[in-house]
Amino acid sequence: MRYVSTRGAAAALGFEDVTLAGLASDGGLYLPESWPVFTSDQIAALKGLSYVDTAVAVMKPFVADAIDEAGLRALCAAAYGRFAHAAVTPLVQLDQRHFLLELFHGPTLAFKDVALQLLGLLFERFLSSRDTHLTIIGATSGDTGSAAIDALAGRAKVDVFMLHPAGRVSDVQRRQMTTVLAPNIHNIAIDGSFDDAQAIVKAAFADTDFAGRYRLGAVNSINWARLMAQLVYYFYAAVRLGAPDRAVAFSVPTGNFGDVFAGYAAAKMGLPVAKLIVATNVNDILHRALSAGDYSTGTVTPTAAPSMDIQVSSNFERLLFDLHGRDGAALSAAMAGFEADRRMTLSEAQRAEAAGLFVSARVDPDEMALAMRWGFQETGQIIDPHSAIGLSAARAADLPADVPVVTLATAHPAKFRDAVERATGQRPGLPARISGLFEREERYATLPATLGAIQEHIVAHGTPARVAEPA
Ligand SMILES: *Cc1c(COP(=O)(O)O)cnc(C)c1O
Repeated sequence: MRYVSTRGAAAALGFEDVTLAGLASDGGLYLPESWPVFTSDQIAALKGLSYVDTAVAVMKPFVADAIDEAGLRALCAAAYGRFAHAAVTPLVQLDQRHFLLELFHGPTLAFKDVALQLLGLLFERFLSSRDTHLTIIGATSGDTGSAAIDALAGRAKVDVFMLHPAGRVSDVQRRQMTTVLAPNIHNIAIDGSFDDAQAIVKAAFADTDFAGRYRLGAVNSINWARLMAQLVYYFYAAVRLGAPDRAVAFSVPTGNFGDVFAGYAAAKMGLPVAKLIVATNVNDILHRALSAGDYSTGTVTPTAAPSMDIQVSSNFERLLFDLHGRDGAALSAAMAGFEADRRMTLSEAQRAEAAGLFVSARVDPDEMALAMRWGFQETGQIIDPHSAIGLSAARAADLPADVPVVTLATAHPAKFRDAVERATGQRPGLPARISGLFEREERYATLPATLGAIQEHIVAHGTPARVAEPA
């Protein structure tokens, strides 16, 4: 299995190199050269398999010869053994047609654990045989940072520098990051917004001299291995609801388009996906793009679902690659236009192609609160704001009556207790696996939102890719 860049100029790479590289050298994102397609019989053979066995079957073609099957199974067993539910990602039935797929039973209570627990183990394995040190630099609005830090704390040959906007993540989210005191974890509160943090990370990668010296790597969903790990739960859930004999729809609370792109990939692999509902909050660039062809950025409005408060959806480029006929040069030109003008218009044909699988919805704060109340009052489920946006879009979607609709529940309600309490009157307790969070010591640096300040901090506290030989 080879991976190609969406911008067509970077060399094709194998799985190991793609995992360590994150972003392609031409600024594009890696994708499999072609999708492995599962037959109906292969999908039927997933019935009754454990999560780990499903993961091995679904990911094997992507990992190819980088790791043998027994090795992959061992990594999956270690990653998913840390989840607090025996089913890893259990399905909960809400009414006769709606289901929640609970993706938040990992160590940091958000769906990002599903991918990052595995990614941490992949990094460790691939680095163990190389004479190199990796520096992960990331920007987080909360969930990515805590999941990456949990997955990488104490691992050899990797440092993590995680930037979060000072004062703009919840107390639970901040403490999940800043109370991890492992020497390879470096939290930085920047004096700026999440977009400022993301811009600094991009600039650090663009400084190729610096990026090479420190071998910068990425843990956000531009990393293909993350999306690969997220494919698994689409198969796992759909098979439990009747695939390959019955098509299933998924509603996905969306920010960077990573999670929902994994659903698209599952459909490309032959899973019968009736529709993918792209659920956004009022930061609705993806809804505007899919419903009206208007992919243009505005300013971010902070909401109760902060992990979806974005203006540029990095993974949308992966869909745009297919909508440009997988022509890297054409997409590269289109992306240059987008980066200059902050807007791109999808053609009628591109919109029609996307509409074959995707529908989209913009869910405002009232509709979000209503979905949380419906969940609690009618089904007894306490649902976090992100999942509520998915559920609201799912309930409003116009789909055939015999299609089950699975809403991806992306965060544990305890992570967003204030918003949940405002909507439902219920204050979710912290699960045992993160209790004690408010008693632990915190450690983080506070720095200005400039590339120079961050690079200086990395030089002072990090490790170059190759430690210089003593003279
Ligand atoms: C990251 C995140 C999302 C958005 O996922 P994308 O892959 O960026 O679309 C939604 N909900 C929660 C809770 C998240 O942490």
